[in-house]
Amino acid sequence: MDQIKIGKFIADTRKEKNLTQRQLADALSISDKTVSKWECGKGLPEVSLMLPLCGILEITVNDLLTGERVSQLEYQKKAEENMMDLMKENEENKRRMVLSVVCGLITIIAVCALIVIAAYVQLPTAARIALIVFVAATAVAGIWAAVVLDARAGYFECPYCKALFVPTMSEYVKGYHTFTRRRLTCHQCGKTGMCRHRVVRS
Ligand SMILES: [Zn+2]
Repeated sequence: MDQIKIGKFIADTRKEKNLTQRQLADALSISDKTVSKWECGKGLPEVSLMLPLCGILEITVNDLLTGERVSQLEYQKKAEENMMDLMKENEENKRRMVLSVVCGLITIIAVCALIVIAAYVQLPTAARIALIVFVAATAVAGIWAAVVLDARAGYFECPYCKALFVPTMSEYVKGYHTFTRRRLTCHQCGKTGMCRHRVVRS
């Protein structure tokens, strides 16, 4: 899905209706920063906002996701493409999540096996040191890969404004977290809170 094109389309149809970003935001009970973000192509409206947004702009969801008014003739084809894109995005995110867990498990198993070898197998000191360095490198690389995959799998949901966003790596790594939530600063409203990790956009 072409976010830039969709953003420009939102801006154009909003202006056709003589609405400011603020007025559109108020009508949807969201911040004008969110509208500005969509229009800059930096994010798609959440699925729950799509129908009310399209109602105000007098377009169809299919028009919105295509980034232009779709003719009746093309309608079916575009609708199917748009649906497939949304599904693909969700699947991609699920795959990253699974990969992240697999990556973490493999790292733990590999590190444990190597520690056992380092502890119980007779080795010259130099080899033992090399092995320990190798274990440390494996652990760091594996954990890093798992973290990158997890951070990129889906979105984090702001507990205040319900916006979905993808944190930067440094925000992600620094954030105190539980299994399903992470302390992050919302990209939309700027508040900091425990944001829920959502793999699927819905
Ligand atoms: Zn927020």
